[in-house]
Amino acid sequence: MPELPEVETVRRGLETLILGRRILTVDIRHEKSFADDDLVEPFVTGARVTGLRRYAKVLVIDLDTAYSLVIHLKMTGQLVFRDEADAEADWGAGHPTKSFVAALPDRSTRVVFGLGERADASADDVLPDVAHTHLFFNDQRIFGWIKVVPTPAVEQLPFIAGLGPQPLDARGEPLAPAAQAAAEARFLTAARRHARAPVKAVILDQAVAAGIGNIYADEALWAARIHPATRVGDLTDQQLVAVFRAAGESMLDSLAVGGSTMATYFQVDGTPGSYLDQFAQVFRREGRPCPRCGTLIVKTRVAGRGTHLCPTCQLPRPPA
Ligand SMILES: [Zn+2]
Repeated sequence: MPELPEVETVRRGLETLILGRRILTVDIRHEKSFADDDLVEPFVTGARVTGLRRYAKVLVIDLDTAYSLVIHLKMTGQLVFRDEADAEADWGAGHPTKSFVAALPDRSTRVVFGLGERADASADDVLPDVAHTHLFFNDQRIFGWIKVVPTPAVEQLPFIAGLGPQPLDARGEPLAPAAQAAAEARFLTAARRHARAPVKAVILDQAVAAGIGNIYADEALWAARIHPATRVGDLTDQQLVAVFRAAGESMLDSLAVGGSTMATYFQVDGTPGSYLDQFAQVFRREGRPCPRCGTLIVKTRVAGRGTHLCPTCQLPRPPA
């Protein structure tokens, strides 16, 4: 599942590729993937991309019509950019699959945007009628979606307004000190409402901390040496804050290697690799030694989720 760093990687990549381009065509190949299709003709077709933002795992593409495309990649969503004239420009990010490099559209393609040349806002008033490049929204399992929303209403969408603090800022950078302190205070207040719940379940709650999914939850708890099943009420403020900070640090490590992009998912010889190998300490590393103590990592279930931990570094709290 794409998490905050994967979606931020999508945002950064798209910013370099589609900012300033006009959307010439919108081909909706699966209706469930694109809500509000009646808004496409008036507010999306012909619109120019003016900005790209991210709220936790939600991507927002702002248009010069004062409408925005709000995109949630969910479990298996990915965005792939192709330039017919320049194969070197091919790019893909999100859930890593062979569709990154397959001929597109393929069976997972749900929406195709035809894009014009990138141009200065002043340069072209006439729409070219041929798309030079395409942006493919692929989604094998069809949980992801795109909505068309008036730009001023984006932050009022329930799934954005209800988000807890993010471990990194809207551009995937560490928070400034004052913002960090405010985020930690909000996180503690929200987490403390779930005193009897296992800490892993609580940090996965998007109202407690936005953007943390299964990968960064496991990584953060390992870094903070806390067993994922520990009840929040048995942890100190210092321990809880350490988990929040560690999630941000692990996300930075992931961003540094490109999240799950085409470039990190495929090895130089073209065979699929695991981008997780480049930053993960425990996630999907069961049976391999803990990087800190050498004990073999185990996989278990906590809060209904597959959970990776070091049985030596992350001792369960003894019963009181
Ligand atoms: Zn260990």
